[in-house]
Amino acid sequence: MQALDYLLSIDINYIAIGLIAVFFTLEQILSTQFSFRDRGKHFWNSFLFQIVFFAGNLFWAGVTVFSIEWLNQHEIGLFYLIDLPLWLKLILGILLLDLSTYWFHRLSHRVPVIWRFHRVHHSDTTMDSSSYFRAHPIEVLFWFGSTPIVAAGIFGLDLMVIGFYFLVLTPFLVLEHSNLRFPAWLEKTFGLIFTTPNLHKIHHDQDQHYTDSNYADIFILWDRIFGTYKYKPADQVKLGLKEFDEDRKQTFWYLVRSPFIRIERTEKENLISHNRHS
Ligand SMILES: [Zn+2]
Ligand SMILES: [Zn+2]
Repeated sequence: MQALDYLLSIDINYIAIGLIAVFFTLEQILSTQFSFRDRGKHFWNSFLFQIVFFAGNLFWAGVTVFSIEWLNQHEIGLFYLIDLPLWLKLILGILLLDLSTYWFHRLSHRVPVIWRFHRVHHSDTTMDSSSYFRAHPIEVLFWFGSTPIVAAGIFGLDLMVIGFYFLVLTPFLVLEHSNLRFPAWLEKTFGLIFTTPNLHKIHHDQDQHYTDSNYADIFILWDRIFGTYKYKPADQVKLGLKEFDEDRKQTFWYLVRSPFIRIERTEKENLISHNRHS
């Protein structure tokens, strides 16, 4: 288990920066799936979110670690009642944390006040691997302050399991947002269980029928089980949100303020017409 201990000791932020550096270069060299409008500006906005994300993480992650340590010390949760081997604990831990995040994500699309923050992530009209960081700091706080703590409290997950989850989650999220062409057969194999980049791009489609689908970060299995799985070919996806489709609404400062501005969802009619036709 020395290798695992070593991996868990690496700051997850470094892994994310390393992955983005690799994918950013690949996106520059290889032919991309979606064309960039102004990549420099796009990267600058994502970069500002990245700085806020890392600075916020120092605090939010600290609060989360403190809360989970307290739960662990008091042996709260299901895993403390049964004796499981470490490998099984790690696999079940990832599945349960991903399941909890799936429901948090579904809620973010359903509850208007959380959607106001979550839509910052969806507003991106040209996506690349740095888009993973495009999340409102208050949304990141909501998630850190609820999902891992609640999951740890119910299931008895310890910090090792949570660390391992982040180790698996981060490459998935960077890959899912990368602007590269992925073969369609991925959906027919890997995509039966895992969220592929093309399946996550469908979640970023402007049409709300598709925006409200494919919520899972790692296991698309949850969408298949709970009836939110949807498919359309990646070349038919139009990224972003119609109500944010203006250059002035794509800047860091506008996006940070946007949850406090009343902006109507403009794709509601599409959902109604889809229901009528299906
Ligand atoms: Zn979403
Ligand atoms: Zn996304």
